[in-house]
Amino acid sequence: MNGLPIDAKPIEILLVEDNENDVILTQEGFKLAKLKVNLHHVTNGQECLAFLRKQGRYVDAPTPDLILLDLNMPVMDGRELLEQIGADETLNHLPIVVLTASVEERDILKMYKLRCSSYIVKPVDFAQFVRVIQEMGNYWFTVVVLPQQTN
Ligand SMILES: [Mg+2]
Repeated sequence: MNGLPIDAKPIEILLVEDNENDVILTQEGFKLAKLKVNLHHVTNGQECLAFLRKQGRYVDAPTPDLILLDLNMPVMDGRELLEQIGADETLNHLPIVVLTASVEERDILKMYKLRCSSYIVKPVDFAQFVRVIQEMGNYWFTVVVLPQQTN
């Protein structure tokens, strides 16, 4: 159960994640959490920037309401991506939730220094994972006020 109005427009979430299993888990998590979500998916930081800048095949991509970011990915990892987004005036208002397996103190500190919106360690247990997704969804989409997107 969550507090989202039934006729609310779907939430656009961009998942930046290279692990196919984690993508499926996250999709399942949102489904079970009964959140009306359009979950978009890219597999590394470079693709994420193309999506956010609506370049190439992402020309019709929506501006996400929230970005879920994995840390370890090929081509451009989550650390570099967060740095790039922070340096881009047109993107640095976007809320970014780090969703990772890493419990490394230095990762947690670094991502907060780069101004991530929050840092979540993925629970290994699926039921816990679903609960975290649900609570995160409720927090970000019923408690928090987000910047208005123009598209
Ligand atoms: Mg990864």
